[in-house]
Amino acid sequence: MKIICIGRNYSNHAKELNNPVPDKPIFFIKPDTALLRTNEFYIPPYSSNIHYELEFVVKIKKVGKSISKRFASKYYDEVSVGLDLTARDLQQECKTKGLPWEKAKAFDGSAPMGEFISLSENNLDVNNLSFELKKNNETVQVGNTNQMIFSVAQIIEHVSKFFTLKIGDLIYTGTPSGVGQVVNGDLLEGFIENKKMFEVKVR
Ligand code: ZN
Repeated sequence: MKIICIGRNYSNHAKELNNPVPDKPIFFIKPDTALLRTNEFYIPPYSSNIHYELEFVVKIKKVGKSISKRFASKYYDEVSVGLDLTARDLQQECKTKGLPWEKAKAFDGSAPMGEFISLSENNLDVNNLSFELKKNNETVQVGNTNQMIFSVAQIIEHVSKFFTLKIGDLIYTGTPSGVGQVVNGDLLEGFIENKKMFEVKVR
């Protein structure tokens, strides 16, 4: 299982980090060891600036390669939200030196994941779902999949040119604005359409 993460998919977030808005989806991969398997995230010793990024997530249900966007919806049904935890200090260092981002993005536990809901069973439109992150009971990020620069279908078409999608792979579709640092004691809660999908305690 792999986790494919899309970068800069909301223009308001690209602006807040002073990044240009891309003309093709930008993506990177986290290994399965990035998945956080508990509700507790421990700040790793190698970073002093871990950021939360709330992202809408699609779970792949069928193997596919070079999938055309008109058939993309056959490859997923369950969705959720997750956190693309980022060691912003390491990322900045890598970006400055032109090095790969992996250690800043793909470290153990960097991908807390919510429970999944079925789009078909709940009659949900993947292109119009609101989601929200609360930190210590205060809303810090809100987004809607209708604000994505590249839709889920466009993402699947692009990514599957390079990588075979396998059953259980997760696609994190990018974060809206409002990213920020987590500190010991924070409680992070992710929602889709006001339904709570996960909670993570930061240690
Ligand atoms: Zn992200």
